[in-house]
Amino acid sequence: MNEQVLVTGGAGFLGSNLCRNLLECGYDVLCVDNFYTGSKKNLLDILDNPFFEILRHDITFPLYVEVDHIYNLACPASPIHYQFDPVQTTKTSVHGAINMLGLAKRVKAKIFQASTSEVYGDPEIHPQMEEYWGHTNPIGVRACYDEGKRCAETLFFDYYRQHHLDIKVARIFNTYGPNMAMNDGRVISNFIIQALTNSPITLYGEGSQTRSFCYVDDMIQAFIKFMQVDSGPGPINLGNPQEITIKELSDLIIDITGSKSKITNKPLPQDDPIQRQPNIDLAKNILEWSPITSLEVGLEKTIHYFDALLKSEKTGL
Ligand code: NAD
Ligand code: UDP
Ligand code: UDP
Repeated sequence: MNEQVLVTGGAGFLGSNLCRNLLECGYDVLCVDNFYTGSKKNLLDILDNPFFEILRHDITFPLYVEVDHIYNLACPASPIHYQFDPVQTTKTSVHGAINMLGLAKRVKAKIFQASTSEVYGDPEIHPQMEEYWGHTNPIGVRACYDEGKRCAETLFFDYYRQHHLDIKVARIFNTYGPNMAMNDGRVISNFIIQALTNSPITLYGEGSQTRSFCYVDDMIQAFIKFMQVDSGPGPINLGNPQEITIKELSDLIIDITGSKSKITNKPLPQDDPIQRQPNIDLAKNILEWSPITSLEVGLEKTIHYFDALLKSEKTGL
C-alpha cells in the first residue's frame, strides 16, 4: 500500500500544488480543508484520482484519521484574510497545531509545519537567518498570524522534546504562482490582475519596502525534500533570496504585461515589514536545494495563469 499523507489546507494555493506533487510521487493523499480561502477549483484535475480524497473539516476541531505523514498548511496566509477573523486565525494556528500534533503522536506520523518568515516580524537583522529570534508586535493587527505561528513553532518543539515527535518546521518566505486566488489580496496576485485589466496598481506606501519572492514549484520541491531526507527538525528558511522593492515589482509586472495601468499610492498597512530576505544557507547545505526559477520566468507563468482565469470568468467557462 502507498504511504498515506494528510495535507491540511490542501485546497489552498500551496496545499493544492503540494497535493498534486505528492500524488505524482506515488503517495495516497488526504486533503483536509474548511474552504475558508481555498477552493475545490484548485483541485479539479485530481478530484477523480483514486489515490486522492477531500475531507471538509476545520482543524481547530480534533481529527481522527490514520496516516503516515502530515503536512500542516491550514491557515489563511494573506493579510486581508487572516485579519478578517483574527481570533479564528490564532485558533487555527494554535488549536490546529495541538490537534495535528496530537494526531501525529497517536499514529506516530512525521509532521511538517508551514511556518513563516513572519516569525521574524519587522526584522532588525538582514538577511534573516534561523538563529534570529525576531521582532514582532504581540498586540498589532498582524499578531494573530505572527504570534499564532510563533506559538505553533513552540508547540512543535515541545512535542519534539517532550514526546519525541518527528517534526519538520519550515519558515516559508513569500511564495507566488498558479492557484493563488483572484481575491487573495497578496501583492503579486493584486498587481498582476490590476495590470491585466489596466486598472490602477495599488502601491502601499512609497513601495521602498522589500520582499524576496519564490516560485511555487521550487517551494514545493523543498517541502517534499525536507520531509524525505534525514535533516532534523529545523527550523529551516525556505525562499528565494532575490530581493526586490515593491515599486520595482510593480514596474516589472507592468513591463511584462505591457499594461497601461498607472500606479496609485495607498497607505502602508500597520506593522508592514520594511525588508525581508531569507538566508538559505541551511537549506542549501542540508537539503542540497536552492530555487531555480527566476522572478521574470515565475511571473510570466503566473501572469499566464491569471490571464486564463480572467478570460474563463469573462466567458463563463
Ligand atoms: P491559502 O490561504 O491559499 O491556503 C490556506 C488553506 O488553509 C486554505 O485552503 C484554507 O481554506 C485552509 N484553512 C484555513 N483555516 C483552516 C482551518 N481552520 N481548517 C482547515 N483548513 C483551513 O494560503 P497559502 O499561501 O497556500 O499558505 C499555506 C500555508 O503556508 C499557510 O499556513 C501559510 O501561513 C504558509 N505560508 C505561506 C506563504 C506564502 O507566501 N504563500 C508564506 C509563509 C507561510
Ligand atoms: N487529537 C486529534 N486526533 C488524534 C489524537 C489527538 O485530533 O488522533 C487531538 C485531541 O483532541 C487532543 C489534541 O489532539 O486535544 C492533543 O492530543 P495529545 O494526545 O497530545 O494531548 P491530550 O489528549 O492529552 O490533551
Ligand atoms: N502590497 C502593495 N500592494 C498590494 C498588496 C501588497 O503594495 O496591493 C505590499 C504590502 O504592503 C507589502 C508587500 O506588498 O509591503 C507584500 O505584501 P503581501 O500582502 O503580499 O505579503 P506580506 O506583507 O505578508 O509579505
